[in-house]
Amino acid sequence: MNLIALPAFTDNYIWMLHDGTHAVVVDPGESAPVIAALDAAQLVLAAILVTHHHADHVGGIDALRPRLQGPVFGPQRERIPEPFVALSDGEQIDVLGLRFEVIDVPGHTSGHIAYFNAGGAGAPILFCGDTLFSGGCGRLFEGTPAQMHRSLSRLAALPGETRVCCAHEYTLSNLKFARAVEPRNRDVADYAAWCESRRALGQPTLPSSIARELEVNPFLRVADNAVAQSARAHGADSDEPVAVLAALRQWKNDFR
Ligand code: ZN
Ligand code: FE
Repeated sequence: MNLIALPAFTDNYIWMLHDGTHAVVVDPGESAPVIAALDAAQLVLAAILVTHHHADHVGGIDALRPRLQGPVFGPQRERIPEPFVALSDGEQIDVLGLRFEVIDVPGHTSGHIAYFNAGGAGAPILFCGDTLFSGGCGRLFEGTPAQMHRSLSRLAALPGETRVCCAHEYTLSNLKFARAVEPRNRDVADYAAWCESRRALGQPTLPSSIARELEVNPFLRVADNAVAQSARAHGADSDEPVAVLAALRQWKNDFR
């Protein structure tokens, strides 16, 4: 099974999973990169998975329908281009012979879902859209800090070796913020150096892993003393994880 990040727009990735004959794509915000990849490897498009309703994740769906030999799957609680199979927490789907579990992860949008495969194609795979980024998390457009905290906590509990497939290449700017939050975190500095070398080669920094994110991502480290202290210096009124996350998210919104 091949797992590929197809670059789209300026910093999106459309994830493609294929077995040499059939492919699945996640969050096709535009169709051209998908069609090019399907044609290059002569793949049948077997399904489309969608995590949330934003245009940079759904904009290519209709143009891909003529090529599509299976369903579009998407979040039950959001409006995405019809027709699609509406999914909610705990439901399972089988694509390319792999089982994916749906996890509700509200926060960035109110009905955002993630897709998790526990293994079978190598290490587990997580398609998490704009909820969890490497070194960061999505902006809270429709949800609350408490919702995002719960969503991130569920993802953080997945196996450490899980391949984390985020929908944007935001890693370097996220790590710049992570360094401001935790100047003494060696893992952040080491990882940033590795990511810089990847980007210098034009390569994605993704997929990440849950184990890695637990080491470097301040939004998964809200229970850490150093992270809480930094948050308190930026508006958090307590060490409660939700208060810490809320302060970090606000700080990050204005961080350059
Ligand atoms: Zn989004
Ligand atoms: Fe996005």
